[in-house]
Parts: sequence; structure tokens; C-alpha cells
Amino acid sequence: MAVIDLHTHSTASDGTDSPAELVAAAHAAGVDVLAITDHDTTGGWESAAAVLPPGMRLVRGAEFSCVSPTGRKERPVSVHLLGYLFDPAHPAITAEQARLRDERTVRLARITEKMAADGYPVDVESVFSLVPNGTSAGRPHLARALVAAGVVESVNEAFATLLHNGSPYYVPKADTPVEAAIAMVRDAGGVTVFAHPLARRRGRVVEPSVIADLAGRGLGGVEVDHPDHAPEDRALLRDLAAEHGLVTTGSSDYHGTNKSTPLAAERTAPEALEDLVARATGVEVLDS
Ligand code: AMP
Ligand code: FE
Ligand code: FE
Ligand code: ZN
Repeated sequence: MAVIDLHTHSTASDGTDSPAELVAAAHAAGVDVLAITDHDTTGGWESAAAVLPPGMRLVRGAEFSCVSPTGRKERPVSVHLLGYLFDPAHPAITAEQARLRDERTVRLARITEKMAADGYPVDVESVFSLVPNGTSAGRPHLARALVAAGVVESVNEAFATLLHNGSPYYVPKADTPVEAAIAMVRDAGGVTVFAHPLARRRGRVVEPSVIADLAGRGLGGVEVDHPDHAPEDRALLRDLAAEHGLVTTGSSDYHGTNKSTPLAAERTAPEALEDLVARATGVEVLDS
């Protein structure tokens, strides 16, 4: 059966493989269909497409930073939405992604300054030396600076101790309302999948009722098999998807050495990919 991994990151955002290295690593790992889904950017599409080896297919996508009600009486929560096969030149998409990359830059600088003010050996200049121009900046970049400064031993430890969403140093960014992001990706001919909706170890998650509601507003699918999902949550999501006509996917959410999950650690069924492709009219799945 074809090996399909629909959620991976490159150095266009917070992964550690360049887009070309990502494609090569996926090929070496036996991946037949790879999606490149950097945070709030399509900046890696071209270089990934340029090196696609014969026999491998590339699904061009992005992971959109969004905000959603939780379905409980509490403040909204930050969520991630995967968009696939949308027109990357659609004006609403380019504008919103540019806005979010600016948000990311300002916010990462603020987190860094807060930590520096508390005596941590980090500064804005050294953190941003790890974020080449045009890159979508994220906390993993600061995590690497903390590792380099000897504050923590790993990116994981940086998140567990200092960079998690409940940390005193955390600074939110102004994410896109998830219903608006779904509409925007659909307007651009793409299809959407709610990324790791029940990744509880990252913090608060939405109620299933929120996913059901989004299914009625054009959401295409849910990521079920994801490294941060417990078995019982995968079962819950599979039932929910069946009930509401959502496609179910499985993906590694590979970030190179910023995370420990290897490519193809979780996979999507060929029929699910077909279903997603059938719902999209923006750009084609690329063949070499
Ligand atoms: P940001 O995009 O700045 O909000 O940071 C979130 C990113 O940090 C996610 O996309 C992950 O790549 C990464 N991340 C979140 N939690 C962890 C963790 N425990 N270990 C390593 N990376 C993480
Ligand atoms: Fe990430
Ligand atoms: Fe994510
Ligand atoms: Zn991701």
C-alpha cells in the first residue's frame, strides 16, 4: 500500500530539513506521497517541487494558525488547520499568511525579551540569526537558541519547562478565526483538515461539538492518527468523522530534529487521500 504522510515541516517554518532535504528524507523513508505543510507559508513549495524524485508525489499545503471557541464557557484556544491544494496566489491567503508571519516575528521577539529580562542568556539578535528572512518564526527557533546557550538539553525540554502555552513567558499571537480560515482555503480551491484536534498534552483542546459544527461550515477532514493523539481520542475522532462525513488522515507532523517523530510514523489511507483530492480544485498533486 502506498505510504502517505500528509503533514511535515521544513526550514520554511520550524522544521530542520530544507524543503529539498525533506523530499529526499521522505524518499529515503519510503514515502510515496508527501505533503509539505509549513506554518503560515507556502515558501517551501517551489524548492520541494524542484527535486521531486520519479515515482514520488507532492501535495502542496500549509498549516494555518487559527483560533477557535472550545465549546465550553472559557476563552478561545489556539488550533491548527491544514490546508491542501489551494491556490498559493489567492490574495486572501497571501495577505493572511504575511500578517501571521509578522505576528510570529514580533511575538517570538517578545517571548525572547521576557526571558532575557529574567536573566536567561538569550537575545533577539541571536534567536533571529536562526530565522533566515522569509522563514515563519516559531518557538522551536527560540528552543534551539536555549539549547545552544546550554539552558536546556533539548527542544522538547525547552517546551516542557519554558515555552509551553501555560508558561509565564508565553505570548499569544493574533491567529485567524478557524471558520474564516476554512472559508479562505476553500475560496482558493483548497481542502482543509483539522490538525491534531485532540493533542491534549499541548494544552486545552476543543469539544467534539466544535468539530461537528465546523464540518457544517466546510471543514474537509480531521487528523486522526497523530503522534500526540491517545488511542481513545483516535477512536472518538474516527466515530465523529464517520458521523459528519469528514475525511480521516494520519501524519507524522515531522519537524526534522526539532521533534523525535520520524517521517511516515503515522500514515493516511489511499482512499482518504483520493477523497481529499476530489474535494480540491486549486493546484494539482505534483508528479515528477
Ligand atoms: P509556535 O508556532 O511558535 O506557536 O510554536 C508551536 C510549535 O512548537 C509547534 O508547531 C511544534 O512544532 C512545536 N512544539 C510544540 N510543543 C512541542 C514540544 N513539546 N516539543 C517540541 N516541539 C514542540
Ligand atoms: Fe511546528
Ligand atoms: Fe500543528
Ligand atoms: Zn505541524
